[in-house]
Amino acid sequence: MTYMITSQCIECHRCESLCPTGAITRNEHQYQINSERCNDCVGHYAVPQCWAACPTNGGCVPNLATLPHSLAEKPSSDYWDNWFYTYEHLVSRLNANQPSAYWQRWFDTYSQALTKQLQTPTSVGANV
Ligand code: SF4
Ligand code: SF4
Repeated sequence: MTYMITSQCIECHRCESLCPTGAITRNEHQYQINSERCNDCVGHYAVPQCWAACPTNGGCVPNLATLPHSLAEKPSSDYWDNWFYTYEHLVSRLNANQPSAYWQRWFDTYSQALTKQLQTPTSVGANV
C-alpha cells in the first residue's frame, strides 16, 4: 500500500521535504505521490512521514487502491493464489527493510561494549 494526497491538501509543504524516497512532487496544480517510489517509509521511519506530519484531517491518506489484492478486492477463490500473493508481498516488504546506519552503529557499539565486559576479570576472582 502507498499513500496519496487529496484535495484536502493545504500545501503546507511539510511532506515533500520529509519523504525519504523522493516520492512527493508538485505539478502545476497540486502535490502528488508517485506510487512507484513510495514504500510506506519502510526502512526509514516507523510511521509514514507524509501521513504523520500532515496538519489536515484528510490531505494525505492511505491509497486503498494499492492494497494487496487479497485485502483490497474480493478474495480469489483459489486458496494457493492468495497464499503465494501474500507471501511474495511480505518477502518484498522484508527485503525493503534494510538496516539504517543509526542501528548499525548502535549494534556495533553494543557488541564492542559487551565483548569488553566479557573479557574483563570479575572482581570476586581478583580478591581471593
Ligand atoms: S509514506 Fe513515506 S515514502 Fe511514501 S510518500 Fe509518504 S513520506 Fe514518502
Ligand atoms: S503535509 Fe498535508 S497539507 Fe502539507 S503539503 Fe503534504 S499533503 Fe498537503
